[in-house]
Amino acid sequence: MACERTCIGCRRQDSPEGLLRVVLDNGVVTPDPRAIRQGRGAWLHPACWEVAERRKAFGRALRVSVAPDLSVLRTYIESLPAG
Ligand SMILES: [Zn+2]
Repeated sequence: MACERTCIGCRRQDSPEGLLRVVLDNGVVTPDPRAIRQGRGAWLHPACWEVAERRKAFGRALRVSVAPDLSVLRTYIESLPAG
């Protein structure tokens, strides 16, 4: 499917509905659930963010050399309803 995205955590492809888009905003990884923000984004399953962090996938996907700040993303994902 042309519209599929690859999760930066588990590296599996999925439709955008199953994935969360994030963008980098002043060094902070920021959720973009409606996928409306400009700039380089990355896609991941919300449950895969820790895997992505361990793999340093955020920095790679967002093209930054220092580890980006994930505190905003973590707070956002933890606020999501489980399941
Ligand atoms: Zn995933």
